[in-house]
Amino acid sequence: MKNYDVISKRALGLKPSLTLEISALAQSLKKEGKNICSLSAGEPDYDTPDFIIEATQKALKDGFTRYGPAAGDSELREAIANKFSNINKIPTRLENILITNGGKQAIFNLFQTILNPGDEVLIPSPYWLSYPEITRFAEAIPIPIESSPVNGFIIDIEKLEKYITKKTKLIILNSPCNPTGRILTIRELEGIAKLLRKYPNISILSDEIYEFLISEDACHVSIASVAPDLIDRVYIVNGFAKSWAMTGWRVGYLRASNSVIKKCVALQSQSTSNVCSFVQRGALVAIQKEPSGIKYMIKSYNQRRKYLTKCINNIEGLNLVPQDGAFYVFPKLDSNLGASLNFCKKLLEEEGLALVPGIAFGDDSCIRISCSVSEEIINDGLTRLQSAIDKIN
Ligand code: GLU
Repeated sequence: MKNYDVISKRALGLKPSLTLEISALAQSLKKEGKNICSLSAGEPDYDTPDFIIEATQKALKDGFTRYGPAAGDSELREAIANKFSNINKIPTRLENILITNGGKQAIFNLFQTILNPGDEVLIPSPYWLSYPEITRFAEAIPIPIESSPVNGFIIDIEKLEKYITKKTKLIILNSPCNPTGRILTIRELEGIAKLLRKYPNISILSDEIYEFLISEDACHVSIASVAPDLIDRVYIVNGFAKSWAMTGWRVGYLRASNSVIKKCVALQSQSTSNVCSFVQRGALVAIQKEPSGIKYMIKSYNQRRKYLTKCINNIEGLNLVPQDGAFYVFPKLDSNLGASLNFCKKLLEEEGLALVPGIAFGDDSCIRISCSVSEEIINDGLTRLQSAIDKIN
């Protein structure tokens, strides 16, 4: 039997996440005893803070080990609603919140709930690599809208509008952005809101998972607080993985209108049921303490991002416009270094350095380097990177 006789049409084209694959490959090479330096993972090198672990242990002892509501623990939903209302200035009630297995499942559930086959989803590029895949899995069509590394990946709103058709259903915003680290300005958000008012059938997915991971002098603003009149057309995704160093816990959330949340809950109740009961109690103390409980991590990511940016711009062949968010940099390769996939293959095979090729994020001229590792590991990675470039030049 051929593959296409067995596998559904929907699943045939589905690609596994390259970011997860590269991190896993780097780890298995390390286990085999190879000398590998990995700046590939979008994962904090910090351990989950003790107060979160203690609350989770207590929850286990207190019997939070049974089925819970498919929508999530009500106290956690309430606390997240309060965070939206008080910190983001987006009035929110418990009914607007769904707890999910990480931000990824929030996007998956949302897309299965709101997209029809043939709907078009505009995705400013570079983009986080799961957006197009999750879009296609909902039988909708991802439309990447390119931006340029030369001006720091500013979204060109006029260009965005040119791609709008009768089939456009959704625009994806991701600020701070993975892979570029870029934070959308209030002016840009106002421009996008203005565009949305012209097209009443288009909604926004705003992925804000890096909201707290920004420089001291930068500020994160959600499009929903810039344009409160559009609140019913804005879906916000967020999660605990990045800010609280809880990647393996898998707790994310979606903010949406009550009618969309209800359908997402139905989907969740028929697929994964509730997110693990006791980890939601850990997430609860995290969100109640934020962002003061994570200041030390934010500070170090900022120092490392600045340091990495400075070093990258001292390497001939790499060009980078400094950014203020997330824990990645996304420099452009000079053309003599070749395309990103080959370059990254060479780095891994010849220098033992794992980075993520920009092609995975829609830009083959760039590479993603993570700075969620110590300065010592960053220096090791940069030495290997320089060595690869010296060999090519
Ligand atoms: N979001 C992280 C990254 O981009 C984790 C891996 C993934 O889920 O893609 O590296």
